[in-house]
Amino acid sequence: MTPKDTGFFEGGGYSKKQPIGIAMPSNHISNEPYHEWLKEKYGHLKMRKEKCILCGEETKWPEGMGIEVRSHYVEGAGQLCEPCWEATGGRVIIQPD
Ligand SMILES: [Zn+2]
Repeated sequence: MTPKDTGFFEGGGYSKKQPIGIAMPSNHISNEPYHEWLKEKYGHLKMRKEKCILCGEETKWPEGMGIEVRSHYVEGAGQLCEPCWEATGGRVIIQPD
C-alpha cells in the first residue's frame, strides 16, 4: 500500500495536540484537477523535441535531455538528425555570418 492510499480515510494521524486553525483542509478532491493539469503540462513538454540544427527536422530527443545520453549531438554546435549526422560525419562547425 502506498501512503496515498492509506492516509485517505484514517484521518492522517491528527492528534489532540493539533492547534486549532492550523490543520490543513482535506483537499484530496481538489488535487485531482491539479494532477490533470500537471499531466497535460508535462505531456506537452514531452512532445517537444530537439530540432536538427542543419535541416530543422525534429529529432527523436526530447528538449532538455542530457546531451551525454543523446546520439548525433555535436558539442558546441547542437543536435543533428540522423541523415545530417551521416552526411557530415558529426563534424559540424558553426560559423557566424
Ligand atoms: Zn537534419
